[in-house]
Amino acid sequence: MALIVKKFGGSSVANAERVFNVANRIIEDYKKGNDVIVVVSAQGDTTDDLIDKAKEINPDGPSKREMDMLLASGEQISISLLAMAIEKLGYPVKSLLGWQAGFETDSHYGMARIKRVNTERLQKEIDKKNIVIVAGFQGLNKYDDITTLGRGGSDTSAVAIAASMRADLCQIYTDVDGVYTADPRKVSNAVKMDEISYDEMLELAAMGAQVLNNRSVEMAKKYNVELEVLSSLEVKPGTIVKEKVKMEKTLIKGVAKDNNVARISIVGLDDTPGVAFKIFNKLAQFKVNVDIILQSVGRDNTKDITFTVPSDQAKQAVEAIESLKDILNYKEISVDESVAKISIVGAGMESHPGVASKMFEALYDAGINIQMISTSEIKISVLIDAKSADNAVTAVHDAFLN
Ligand code: ASP
Ligand code: MG
Repeated sequence: MALIVKKFGGSSVANAERVFNVANRIIEDYKKGNDVIVVVSAQGDTTDDLIDKAKEINPDGPSKREMDMLLASGEQISISLLAMAIEKLGYPVKSLLGWQAGFETDSHYGMARIKRVNTERLQKEIDKKNIVIVAGFQGLNKYDDITTLGRGGSDTSAVAIAASMRADLCQIYTDVDGVYTADPRKVSNAVKMDEISYDEMLELAAMGAQVLNNRSVEMAKKYNVELEVLSSLEVKPGTIVKEKVKMEKTLIKGVAKDNNVARISIVGLDDTPGVAFKIFNKLAQFKVNVDIILQSVGRDNTKDITFTVPSDQAKQAVEAIESLKDILNYKEISVDESVAKISIVGAGMESHPGVASKMFEALYDAGINIQMISTSEIKISVLIDAKSADNAVTAVHDAFLN
């Protein structure tokens, strides 16, 4: 007998048939004598539809408090429907909203952080042998107002329950059957990983391999909650996410592509101390997330600085730099949005030389030019022309994972 936390995403409960499918999977575990707590997201596109409704009322954006009040309703629908399905199948069940399940958050509406989960009520229902269905993505702040955790926040709700209830297993069910070595829709020989470490998962997720919400992986790492990502539609093992994974033959875990990048170059800066500081300090003030940075070697007393930002922050970045026009002496700023970042991730590369050269060789063989490079202990990223992105992923994947 174990305590199992299961999370089902919006597509897994999108209609009545799927709700019953999920109900049956829950009951299977319950019948074996396990305690089961289930976290669900809003059905299908409900959250997007609710956002559209709010825009109809106030296109300028309603207050964040009222927005959370609205968005939290999506999960109220899915938990009650799922509980009704389990009831109909003859098993004891209780649905709980975030606050009823003890989710205490800060007051950052729309992006609230969980402060703690008061598990009293959850424990009481478990002791009564009820299956418990909890609304993901929501909690209550110190003013007793409803908050939400940010898009995709139900994963985090599930991990928080698993951590505070000391669950034996935390299973995240989605419409894919695990974490792949590359996007399986683009790379035909991509394979499902049996295991991946928290750090590798975080790097992959940050680069657009959105299987798990990033915050949920950070929380799982912090509280050492082992996760399993698996399919809600097929019955087969998924991918385990945990601290230490078996060292495998493969150095590289996966290849990811990020199209949400823009490259900004500032040309003809004075080659004097403090220039980089002034630029990146201003970008931070403008809340711009800078990724890869490259500074050219000074020549004729001038230098260039190039960096990348998420595409949707390019405008802000340019505004930030232009606000320094009087302080910085530069010739011009240019923005290139037709770039993509390709990254390889793997804890194995830390102790193996030659990984970077193998990646660069694969790109060279495919005739792809590298514009910028950045590395961390477990990741190598290159910036290339967006048009070559899919080819690059395939070439690099073939070099390492075939
Ligand atoms: N329903 C919310 C969303 O769509 C939370 C979630 O799906 O995890 O973002
Ligand atoms: Mg959703």
